[in-house]
Amino acid sequence: MSAPGLLDKFTPVASLRDALAATGRNPTGMVTERLLSPTLGIIEGRETILAGTNNYLGLTFDPACIAAGKQALDEFGTGTTGSRMANGSFALHQSLEAEMADFYGQAYGMVFSTGYAANLGMLSALLGPGDAVLLDADAHASLYDGCRMSGAQIFRFRHNDVASLEARLRRLGEQSRRALIVVEGLYSVFGDIAPLPEICALKHQYGAYLMVDEAHSLGVYGDTGRGVAQAQGVEDAVDFTVGTFSKSLGATGGYCVSNNPVLQLIRYTSRPFIFTASGSPSVIATTREALHQVRTRPQLRSQIWNNARRLYAAFQEMGFNLGCTVPSPVLAVRFSQREEAFACWHGLIEAGVYTNLMVPPASPDGSSLLRVSVSAAHTAEQVEQIISAFAKVVMPVQQRVSESATAA
Ligand code: PMP
Repeated sequence: MSAPGLLDKFTPVASLRDALAATGRNPTGMVTERLLSPTLGIIEGRETILAGTNNYLGLTFDPACIAAGKQALDEFGTGTTGSRMANGSFALHQSLEAEMADFYGQAYGMVFSTGYAANLGMLSALLGPGDAVLLDADAHASLYDGCRMSGAQIFRFRHNDVASLEARLRRLGEQSRRALIVVEGLYSVFGDIAPLPEICALKHQYGAYLMVDEAHSLGVYGDTGRGVAQAQGVEDAVDFTVGTFSKSLGATGGYCVSNNPVLQLIRYTSRPFIFTASGSPSVIATTREALHQVRTRPQLRSQIWNNARRLYAAFQEMGFNLGCTVPSPVLAVRFSQREEAFACWHGLIEAGVYTNLMVPPASPDGSSLLRVSVSAAHTAEQVEQIISAFAKVVMPVQQRVSESATAA
């Protein structure tokens, strides 16, 4: 037999794709044909409630954001045609950087083209060979990739496990002063949050640095929407806050804010900042307006939390095995079998509710689950429709499983 060729690695990928297609619906390739609102779309020709987006504040159709985007198209054109360092820094980008810093009460702000680029750009610049990075095991792929790109030594600690983090810091000894701890605020699959006060205490004890990714918590957690560090009262201990504009702000782009003047130097050393085109004018303009909405409409946060609490209570009542123990805008309904999760995901789409299906190896802990997210823009009626669909489709499956477990 001849040695494997360059493209042979795609054979199992093709089998996986074909197996998914054979189920009648490919969960990795769902298409929304038309959008009727932030929470309602046409999927397979049917009106479907979107309960698997990251549109936490429902700002994608906000009239002021849309107007700001249109105005920027008229005034600045469709694209920047270059990177921030060359010709792609417009007044809009600078204003957004200043506004992000001001929103967070930090000295410096930096805007990247995506959230993925922000994480790659920050980590590959902050870390290098000889440094250590302590990374939560459930951290997003962009955080992993940034760490890998940096050449630093990577130490994973168990998800949200402070003892596991401390054991690794202790083992580092003197090197802990060259260590960066990297965690998220709200974890986007299970809807659980990082124990930041304990993590900050360890950071101080061992002289390490801390970066928190507030991608899913921006606009949602904290008194003014700055995220989980604000909600937990530890913002002063966070060295670098990163995040994205692609979720609660309904656009694309990423950011870092910090009081550390090093952030201004990262502009000169971060390849994912330097070697990619900057965000399009209309995207930056809608982001700026969305940030303004976050700052001036606290009711958006009350609305999402009202919806989150209602859904959490209903799912608790139905006895679902959830990924978090307190209400959260993201809920993960776990299944013991991959096939059950698949069947329920199909059933929910047929009942007019779109959720995110996650099965191994894509899910963080190897479980099969449906990720459900709420938005400030879901009406009370839509939340009740999501609950009814789960009662009809998911509850019977979960009950059957628990009955057979009891009988066994
Ligand atoms: N960080 C986290 C925690 C994320 O969940 C994501 C996106 N899912 C990103 C960063 C990347 O953001 P973007 O999609 O805006 O590139």
